Amino acid sequence: MAQRDKTARTARTKPGSTSGASARAGAEEMEARQAVIDTALAMSRLGLSPGRSGNVSARWGTGMLITPSGLAYDAITPADIVLVSQDGTWDTSQRLPSSEWRFHLSAYEARADMNAVVHTHSLHATVLACAHQPIPAFHYMVAAAGGTDIPLTPYATFGTAELAGHVAAGLARRNACLMANHGAIAIGPSLPAALALAAEVEVLAEQYCKVLAIGAPKILSETEMAEVLERFKSYGQKAQG
Ligand SMILES: [Zn+2]
Repeated sequence: MAQRDKTARTARTKPGSTSGASARAGAEEMEARQAVIDTALAMSRLGLSPGRSGNVSARWGTGMLITPSGLAYDAITPADIVLVSQDGTWDTSQRLPSSEWRFHLSAYEARADMNAVVHTHSLHATVLACAHQPIPAFHYMVAAAGGTDIPLTPYATFGTAELAGHVAAGLARRNACLMANHGAIAIGPSLPAALALAAEVEVLAEQYCKVLAIGAPKILSETEMAEVLERFKSYGQKAQG
């Protein structure tokens, strides 16, 4: 919870801080950079990012702080995190940002209420994404993504503006999506919230794969899901049983 508060505060109190390399970063920015690293490491520990897949970012001022391209997470220091401006540029004294920086930036553009993005190639979410199977309301926890399903966004080549457009459209209506022939993305008001949702998406994906393997899943009705969504609103994530 402290992390959530911190992310929200830094996002509010550093409105113009998108210039300058890490050498000029203040203490608060260094803390935010470390939080991105901690989330990437946790994503890895949770088994959500096979190989060196996946990337993490946090909103910072009008831009974002994102994991660099091609470095193992356990080798990253705060100075390696890349500050990318709202217009998609960065100080070239920094490392290169993750090749997926475009859809991270488009996620922040699409959702002013969100401050963190976690992108994974987690196993079962990716299996469903490769079969072009969105996750319907086979289990009430699907509502954790903010609606009655976890949708599938169309395929486009990694790193492209086209893919960023697809992801932004999907995230405009949900807090998590599967990405066709690629993986999954989850957003949140804070890094811990985005990571928790990414983990939940993988759990749901694994359950759904297993349900599909034994037969036709029984899908909850719109009315039943409306009730769940209402309860999630009233009680918050912590009250989910
Ligand atoms: Zn990816």
